[in-house]
Amino acid sequence: MSQIVVVGAGQAGASLTAELRKAGFDGDVTLIGAEPVPPYQRPPLSKAYLLGEMAEERLYLRPERFYEEQSITLKLGKPVSALDAGAKTVTLGDEVLSYDQLALTTGSTPRLLPGAIGGDLGNVFTVRTLRDVDAMAPAVAEGAKALIVGGGYIGLEAAAVAAKRGVDVTLVEMADRILQRVAAPETSAFFRDLHTRHGVKILEGVGLERLTGDGDVSGAVLSDGTELSLDFVVVGVGILPETTLAEAAGLALDNGIAVDETGRSSDPSIWAAGDCASFPFRDARIRLESVPHAIDQAELVARNMLGAGEQYTARPWFWSDQYDVKLQIAGLNSGYDHVVTRNSGPATSVWYYQGETLLAVDAMNDPRAYMIGKRMIEAGKSPAPEAVSNPETDLKSLLRA
Ligand code: FAD
Repeated sequence: MSQIVVVGAGQAGASLTAELRKAGFDGDVTLIGAEPVPPYQRPPLSKAYLLGEMAEERLYLRPERFYEEQSITLKLGKPVSALDAGAKTVTLGDEVLSYDQLALTTGSTPRLLPGAIGGDLGNVFTVRTLRDVDAMAPAVAEGAKALIVGGGYIGLEAAAVAAKRGVDVTLVEMADRILQRVAAPETSAFFRDLHTRHGVKILEGVGLERLTGDGDVSGAVLSDGTELSLDFVVVGVGILPETTLAEAAGLALDNGIAVDETGRSSDPSIWAAGDCASFPFRDARIRLESVPHAIDQAELVARNMLGAGEQYTARPWFWSDQYDVKLQIAGLNSGYDHVVTRNSGPATSVWYYQGETLLAVDAMNDPRAYMIGKRMIEAGKSPAPEAVSNPETDLKSLLRA
């Protein structure tokens, strides 16, 4: 009987194995995870869960009995240490498992601060796993002083939770502005203002020189000479695709495990999906770090492992929650040359254009702009910028144009 092994029991691994069964595969399916818990959703880790407003059980994507019912063998708390693509085996502990087809859904690992600048002191946290957040939560207490390193979405979400819990928060961003890598200056300005109103000190164009402390972190020196006294630090300086196994097995890598439009790697028996995989998109090769992409690509890979031969068309979207603001992003803004901002009451949206082509929309408390922008991008339609920026324009009418 045919054997499929999936390494990485996160969002993509869970979606892939469930889809294999849904598509009628009745061979052996094994899902292997390094973490000791069943697959769970990560987005709440830096939002409701860290805030203490969501129970751990609600993080789980499926109850454990789902895997039993679907005859998916879950092997948890067992990192795969070796992949032999020639022999078609994976090794976990002293167990060696054979596969006919393998999927790598190994996600990503956070970049860490070097030990030489205090990255290995106590109370210096990253936000990737349930264990990371459980370790951090007790420190996020009223009156504590925190430094957040990095003004991307993870850093800003952690800052919002900490500020809400009464922590005195300073956030440093080495680039000229927060969200510089992912958003236009208009969106950065919106979130800078939001955080400042909630008492977070945002320092842009300022790096971290070093953390200080004896055992636990107790202070920081910034690149402009500022010295801070601290109780804890959150590091949100980006992630790297987890490609250790793929690299050792000699698979082609290119900013992640390089897969083709069908999700297949350079080895015909090995597939990859989610954060760890890079794939062709328009004229480039990209990697997406988001739940909707992990689900869509993993489900497509499952069907393709069974011979469907489908091509992946990414339809990027993303969200972030900070205080009472829900940000929803449709599309990918890379290559934009100008933006148009629409303000309509408390709702704000930033529309990204390349020439006359609409690429992406950042919608802040504006689900309508998000939905309509998304539909237009997917349909290849581009509304006139003047119509978008005019708050009198009924956005729905743009769909009919
Ligand atoms: P993961 O879910 O990370 O799963 C990979 C799994 O593989 C991990 O459990 C890992 O331990 C395991 N693994 C790795 N190597 C091995 C090995 N050798 N053996 C066995 N197991 C292994 N996305 C959004 O769209 N919206 C959000 O608001 C959002 N917020 C986020 C907030 C946080 C704090 C984080 C960390 C992420 C957030 N994301 C968000 C991103 C989203 O969670 C990821 O893109 C998504 O989880 C990717 O799924 P994945 O399956 O590729 O990786």
